[in-house]
Amino acid sequence: MSHATIAYAAQSATTPLAPFHIERRDTSAADVSIDILFCGVCHSDLHQSRNDWGISNFPIVPEHEIVGRVHEVGSAVKRFKPGEIVAVGVLYDSCRTCANCNAGIEQYCLNGATETYNSVDKRHGGITRGGYSKLIVVDEAYVFHVPENLDPAAVAPLMCAGITTYSPLMHWEVGPGQKVGVVGLGGLGHMALKIAHALGASVALFTTSPGKAADARRLGADEVIISKNAEEMTAHKGSFRFYS
Ligand SMILES: [Zn+2]
Ligand SMILES: [Zn+2]
Repeated sequence: MSHATIAYAAQSATTPLAPFHIERRDTSAADVSIDILFCGVCHSDLHQSRNDWGISNFPIVPEHEIVGRVHEVGSAVKRFKPGEIVAVGVLYDSCRTCANCNAGIEQYCLNGATETYNSVDKRHGGITRGGYSKLIVVDEAYVFHVPENLDPAAVAPLMCAGITTYSPLMHWEVGPGQKVGVVGLGGLGHMALKIAHALGASVALFTTSPGKAADARRLGADEVIISKNAEEMTAHKGSFRFYS
């Protein structure tokens, strides 16, 4: 049985999101169907809904920071059980046969990874539709466990903004003794700040808004630099090893 569900879609680049009925595919052997509890609001949702990048397939159901509860699992699913809290991020599928997929870096799939929304679904047909909906069906290979001690609402933004900032900080082995500069306390910036601080680095936040200084310090910034102030900027010249 396929799953009829309700979503929010933009019908065109100039119309607001509005309720929209969609059909999710059957829960096939390898699939997990997920009742969506929370999802983030990523700035790419705005870009795609407004066709800023010229690649939007309307109607578009945005969002790729999804947390939900497993509704049902296919007969071959081993890693998940109904009732578990799980998450889905930007990556929805990939070819699973190319060198990059075999190396575990499916996001670099040589045949083009399938993203969670506004992507051609090469395996099942149609265009993928994202988290502004009540239910989604995803192959278990692209579903993540969520530890029970985490607030599921707070987990959602980790799936895009979180991994986007965590990945380079881990890649460059940022830690104690290093000084990280974060430009802007936005969706990604506040994640970069918190993660770099948690890794033990000294973190400086650049902002044009003095009103954000208190929040930045509360989130772990060691210094706040007002980027419109030439003296403050000059004082830090050449002192950073990492940028986010
Ligand atoms: Zn995103
Ligand atoms: Zn591939």
